[in-house]
Amino acid sequence: MGRIKIHTKCEGAWSNAKDLLLCLNTKTWRTERPVINEEKFSYCGLCALYCPPQCMIDMKNLFLPNLEFCKGCGICAKECPQQAISILPEGGFQDEKEE
Ligand code: SF4
Ligand code: SF4
Repeated sequence: MGRIKIHTKCEGAWSNAKDLLLCLNTKTWRTERPVINEEKFSYCGLCALYCPPQCMIDMKNLFLPNLEFCKGCGICAKECPQQAISILPEGGFQDEKEE
């Protein structure tokens, strides 16, 4: 069995919100992804606070998921008070992946 690499800066329950808490790329196994509706968005930051791998990135006027690390768990959508996040099947983004 392969050894699991531990990233010491990621051991705490909370990171400093600038580093990713988990350092495991999602690769191709994610089945759903969060999509932001900018018309409902309020820039409250709760999605970033609750995201387990802390991959909701602060773009200064918007939070967007870093899809390299997003697991598609849907917690951000569940916690968003504006219902600004939809969790959509990856199959709908197949063309984007093949580009
Ligand atoms: S779906 Fe999960 S992993 Fe992806 S941004 Fe939302 S909370 Fe984070
Ligand atoms: S929780 Fe919802 S409204 Fe708040 S920053 Fe995230 S997407 Fe925007």
